[in-house]
Amino acid sequence: MKVYKFPQGGITFEDSTVPPKTPGVVAFLPVLSVIPLIQHTGGKASPVVAPGDRVREGMLIARAQGLGSANVHASVPGEVVRTVSWETPEGITNEGLVIRLGGGFEKLGKEEKIFHWEELMPFALQQLIAEYGVVEMEGSGQPLAEFLGAIHSRNSDAGTVALVVRCVFDDPWLAADYVLCQERLKAVVEGSVIICRSVQINRIVYAVSYREKALGNMLLEEAGNYGIPASLMLTETRYPQKNRRELELALRNYEKSEGLSLGSFLIIGPATLAAVHDAIKLKKPIVDRYIAVGGSAVKNPQVLRARIGTRLRDLFDECGGFVEEPQRIILGSPLSGRQVTDLDEPIVKTSYAAAALLEKQIGGTVMRNCIGCGECRLVCPVALDPEALYKEIKRLQSEATGLIAAECHGCGCCDLVCPSRLPLSTVIQDAAKRT
Ligand code: SF4
Ligand code: SF4
Repeated sequence: MKVYKFPQGGITFEDSTVPPKTPGVVAFLPVLSVIPLIQHTGGKASPVVAPGDRVREGMLIARAQGLGSANVHASVPGEVVRTVSWETPEGITNEGLVIRLGGGFEKLGKEEKIFHWEELMPFALQQLIAEYGVVEMEGSGQPLAEFLGAIHSRNSDAGTVALVVRCVFDDPWLAADYVLCQERLKAVVEGSVIICRSVQINRIVYAVSYREKALGNMLLEEAGNYGIPASLMLTETRYPQKNRRELELALRNYEKSEGLSLGSFLIIGPATLAAVHDAIKLKKPIVDRYIAVGGSAVKNPQVLRARIGTRLRDLFDECGGFVEEPQRIILGSPLSGRQVTDLDEPIVKTSYAAAALLEKQIGGTVMRNCIGCGECRLVCPVALDPEALYKEIKRLQSEATGLIAAECHGCGCCDLVCPSRLPLSTVIQDAAKRT
């Protein structure tokens, strides 16, 4: 079977400190959960409970406010003991409701009630997806219902849209998504069929890394139960194959080579699809997620299934704690994640990995002068010259350099290969934002 890929640049990234792709371990329930009111792209959800109130597992605790905002639900039962606020790295003030665990569970350990969705109209499906707070869990956290609602306005003929289920593991830190695919394969597939029904499209492409071909075949076989046209595209595992631009390039090659006419692409990842399944079929909001917890500072890296609002310190404790004090904590992959300074930061719907790194894994933090090796040019998938751009921005930022910088999609490949440890992608993206 042919393997499809993007044409230039990229890196092969291996990391022995990633947790093994063994079955996910259900994390202990946190005694205190911090449920942020921003877990999505838009403004803060507005609380509907206050300190002193008792909440049930899965209960709505904050309602979406306008575009980009999503409903927030209690991930555990208990009492709201206080509200907290903190500044995000983007300079936004976030707030959270602190819930002290207590009382009985409505869903955990109980037999799940199945709801039949097959007769529901597309609009009703989209409404349920919004009501249960489903966001794009592999990306920025855009509310999925907004995303789906825009399909019809972007495409006059929705029949020319294909749903692409993105199971592309170009970064070993996507281990949690892999484990989720293995453990919740039926939910992922049914979620993809629900999405097709909700926006009236009738073609699914399962885009799967070629190393996981067996998983791809299982997805395809399960999709066969729904009588919807579906096919499998195997992709390269070179990073950043999962990025929208790089995946679309591979999809266009696939379309041409297979003689298909796919139209535009609606790309959704497996965690989001499992959440869609849970919202529609179980009437259950997102209360937990699979997360890969590891890095050289962690004693026993594992993929955990943890409640939203669990603090990072509790996750690392669950993995045996630290072998020694970490030099850097990253939420997300060390390739593209965000550095955090407070172990009390909670995980949210979009958190797929948490890494605690020792100095030796970071490879040093001292920046040196550029030695002109050209490695950054070789790996840039959008054919930029990160060295030249970085130097030009440092010398004098002009509108022209800002416009070129805007082509950077922040994959971080250049940073990873730079022997001088220059923060190329950060400087380039900051310049793009200022233009
Ligand atoms: S310049 Fe941007 S797109 Fe190119 S490698 Fe660096 S981060 Fe990636
Ligand atoms: S990789 Fe770093 S040292 Fe090499 S040319 Fe690029 S910026 Fe300079």
